[in-house]
Amino acid sequence: MATMLVFKMPPFYKAKESPEEWDAEYEDLFKQIATFDFPRHYFDREVFQDRTIKQHLHQDKLLRYSSLVQSTCQLQDGLSRMIACVTLLCKDTLRTNDNFAARWMMASAAVRKKHALIGIAAACSVAHDLNEARILCSEELRVSRLSDDGRVLLNLFSSISRQDTSCNPTEPKYFPSTIWDRTRSSHANSSDEVEKLVLNYIIILRTKLISIALDNIVRSFFGLELSEIKLIKHASPQTGSPSSDAFQQALRNVVQTVHGKEEYKTFKAETKAAKKDLNSRRFSRCTECGKEAESRSAFQKCIACAKISREVLYCSRDCQEANWKTSHKLICGKPLDFDLAFQSAIIPTQSSKRPSDSFSSPKAAAGFNRPLALLEQMDLLQSTPSLDYYARRSVCTGNEDPSGIEFPEHIRTHFLEHRKKAMTTGDPRSAALICDCLLWHTECHKSTGLSRDKIIEQISGEYSIPVTNLQLALEEFDELRSLFPARPPAALILAHLDWNLAYVRGGSHDQ
Ligand SMILES: [Zn+2]
Ligand SMILES: [Zn+2]
Repeated sequence: MATMLVFKMPPFYKAKESPEEWDAEYEDLFKQIATFDFPRHYFDREVFQDRTIKQHLHQDKLLRYSSLVQSTCQLQDGLSRMIACVTLLCKDTLRTNDNFAARWMMASAAVRKKHALIGIAAACSVAHDLNEARILCSEELRVSRLSDDGRVLLNLFSSISRQDTSCNPTEPKYFPSTIWDRTRSSHANSSDEVEKLVLNYIIILRTKLISIALDNIVRSFFGLELSEIKLIKHASPQTGSPSSDAFQQALRNVVQTVHGKEEYKTFKAETKAAKKDLNSRRFSRCTECGKEAESRSAFQKCIACAKISREVLYCSRDCQEANWKTSHKLICGKPLDFDLAFQSAIIPTQSSKRPSDSFSSPKAAAGFNRPLALLEQMDLLQSTPSLDYYARRSVCTGNEDPSGIEFPEHIRTHFLEHRKKAMTTGDPRSAALICDCLLWHTECHKSTGLSRDKIIEQISGEYSIPVTNLQLALEEFDELRSLFPARPPAALILAHLDWNLAYVRGGSHDQ
């Protein structure tokens, strides 16, 4: 039988309330685990524990694993975009060749220490399992290590940064680790289901925690708001780690022996209060589009999955159908095994990323008379709601086939916002931003045969804005875009300008 390894983890609510004390407790724990082969013991303990849990808890863990893979992927994607944006925005503000890496290296160890602690504590206070996962990151999430040498943090970034950000990542990137890589390689070919899940669960939890911590360290460093990590409500009443009764008993004994009965009582009460707070932040969401449910009963359940007590929710019939095609048919109504859990997480959710809401013509605001060209555009969009806009190769309508344009998700959201405003009110600034997005599209896809002049002419006609006015606005946007090597559409940059403002306000805090 595996050695029973029981620690009293510094409670997660302490990370928020008294981060320094919490961090000191963790430092003690790190010293303890450094004296023996921690990864092996930890792994054996988890395997032992998982072999004793009931089958439905094992299924729950597989589902949680699958959703961890997916959310970590999204998190890392957002992180690399944020770094790119912050770096360029600070270039904009300071008018120097400064970037994030240089600023971090230039900061003093004391400044780095402050932000490292804020970032790590914020990440660990998100949820129980993330707090406890800090013990799996004894190399990475050490405040002293991150502050003494600025390169430590930058190396963590480079291990997850992606060269190509034009498409969505399908798998998270992992942080190499001298202590875990050995355990990983010795069990890499294990065909034992429990061992496979335990090992991969450890790795993904580590990856997620480090990614959230990095995100928060950068945000704190630039004076931005810390990220709010959403917690997903699972159908089963089970939250936290699926510990067996024997394990809970052992934990209680240790805490009582080490800290006394009174302290144990306080510990229990605080944990209960913190759990309550945690549960109030959980929400149910549509498996396909991610839309949050006001109440769980408002969403439809997959019936085949409900039969095996797995809750899969959808906001609409369309979402259910789309999800079926991309991934759900793989796992519907079937008990999961490790490979299925992994596959269902990494299937590219390209189509699922596009909300299926159809184009509905917005009503024109009083005083805005839509030109015929705009009405024609709206007609075209209504017939193919999956497309975002139609560009014409010539301004004469008639026999030509207009090109349907589809924007990638991170641009689409901003494009649609301005499209709606322009179509409703004829707002010239929004129309210019639409135009800028279309021009960006032609720059990226030179083969479409669309020309800059024609697009400007088209938008000018659709929203009755004189070409010269439109060109003036576009010149301004061009200048903004030129600050970014990838020259993203101005709508995207402007959407991130609140970061810029936050940065200017908090600009002096790394002196
Ligand atoms: Zn949905
Ligand atoms: Zn199903």
